Amino acid sequence: MSDTILETEGMTKEFRGFVAVSDVRLQVRRGTIHGLIGPNGAGKTTCFNLLTKFLPVTRGKIIYEGRDITNLKPADIARLGLVRSFQISAVFPHLTVLENVRLALQRARGNSFDFWRPESLLKRYDSRAMELLEDVGLTEYARHNAGELSYGRKRALEIATTLALEPTMMLLDEPTAGMTHDDVDRIVALVRRVAAGRTVLLVEHNLKVVEGLCDTITVLARGSVLAQGDYATVSRNPDVQAAYLGT
Ligand code: ADP
Repeated sequence: MSDTILETEGMTKEFRGFVAVSDVRLQVRRGTIHGLIGPNGAGKTTCFNLLTKFLPVTRGKIIYEGRDITNLKPADIARLGLVRSFQISAVFPHLTVLENVRLALQRARGNSFDFWRPESLLKRYDSRAMELLEDVGLTEYARHNAGELSYGRKRALEIATTLALEPTMMLLDEPTAGMTHDDVDRIVALVRRVAAGRTVLLVEHNLKVVEGLCDTITVLARGSVLAQGDYATVSRNPDVQAAYLGT
């Protein structure tokens, strides 16, 4: 098995001639937490959209597990184990937390939701759903309506529904955005836990979180890779300081 799980070559996205992502070479090592950072408009979200095929590339190649996935569809990519948080599952506020995860498991296993199925059949998913809720620290909220959860716990539930797809690699888009201090600490611990035995690619604005979590960081600015390395290395880079840290 190759050390590199995800790799891009010359990944480029143009919107009517505007180059949002320019010739990006990413190399994500298996089993690591890899951060993708950069100022607003740097191209981070566009990169995520390209990697998960929400947008087609203008040029370049995306290789996952040694396979060229450049022309696959989002659902095919999720099936290969490369899953973006919130890609397939959303949180349904009027269902309970447990029902949300159960539904995600049903969908992950290819069973479309069937309103005529007796409740007893649906329950076979419950033991796995409870395991996933335990993984994200939501066991005691299993019977609560998802809509009643705090913002931070809703994000944890979204991660549980993503885990239902049994990802090998997870793409997390700003997991701590808009969170209180306590929630940030909880999500950091959670990301570390879900990263065990997986690979995580993370877009994150909070540099303390990036420093604490990421093994490798790619810094983007104006669509191009400015620097790559561990936090100490990239944060010392004068180009990064000028473009990103504003110093
Ligand atoms: P980031 O996530 O780093 O803030 P984005 O990937 O959202 O950056 O955006 C990168 C650049 O591409 C920005 O200048 C943005 O305005 C532009 N852009 C993103 N999506 C589109 C689109 N659908 N059409 C035109 N321009 C876009």
